[in-house]
Amino acid sequence: MAKYELLRQQLQHEGIMEPEQFFEPDEIDLLPLLRVHDGKYLTKLEEGSWSRQEERRSGFPWSNALIQREKTIMEGTRLCGIEAARGNVALNIAGGTHHAFSDHAEGFCLLNDLAIAAYDLLDRGMDRIAVVDLDVHQGNGTAHITAEEERIFTLSMHGAHNYPLHKPQSTLDIPLPDGTGDRDYLARLDHALRTVMTEFQPQVVLYQCGVDVLATDKLGRLALTIEGCRTRDEMVFQACKEAGIGIACTMGGGYSADISIILKAHMNTFKVARDTWT
Ligand SMILES: [Zn+2]
Repeated sequence: MAKYELLRQQLQHEGIMEPEQFFEPDEIDLLPLLRVHDGKYLTKLEEGSWSRQEERRSGFPWSNALIQREKTIMEGTRLCGIEAARGNVALNIAGGTHHAFSDHAEGFCLLNDLAIAAYDLLDRGMDRIAVVDLDVHQGNGTAHITAEEERIFTLSMHGAHNYPLHKPQSTLDIPLPDGTGDRDYLARLDHALRTVMTEFQPQVVLYQCGVDVLATDKLGRLALTIEGCRTRDEMVFQACKEAGIGIACTMGGGYSADISIILKAHMNTFKVARDTWT
């Protein structure tokens, strides 16, 4: 978790972001949470009345601070979504909790910020939201939550042999073989982005830009270089720019042994966002 605070500091330190470009969200209200999550599950989260098994599945020991943190992240992504709906780019320095289901936590994700932001935008009158999930792990929670909602298109490009074992169907799943490198990855992405943009024509994109696609990642099984990862981001931002729509980004995973590589990859996302939108 240290990477998120470091990311913020480094973005300012290198002058990629000015202090006034940051906003600090409050904790999310109950209403947008209830749109996506089961009421009984939310009560359990608040009270910390998880079973041992539920706690293990979440990946975290329960604490009040953990729940506050998660609710703040949810609000961050929700507000980024609103900004994106105005045609702008907005990035959460954390978020991308795509393994959270409506009624249970999984894989370090307690609440699903992408689904929460998507439904919030539907409630604000938008009717075509695309979730572009390029984290190396499949967006199982998001796919499951939004399965019946035709106004939300979920694209997940992920390692075929990575967690989760069971992968609920996204609108478009692109499972990749172990060791996939820049060239094959970017070709598949180009094709997938065209499909989303031309066939679905989203009004806004929610982007899970996890950097666990890097060859150096401990948990990923792909082999992208840092340049390949940057090109990936450029392609997504450019596709939105060309379509004249905004984009909200969540950082997602990144588990390289050397934290400086993760930071560099996440900072590249901010740099590319800034360069594409100015
Ligand atoms: Zn991941």
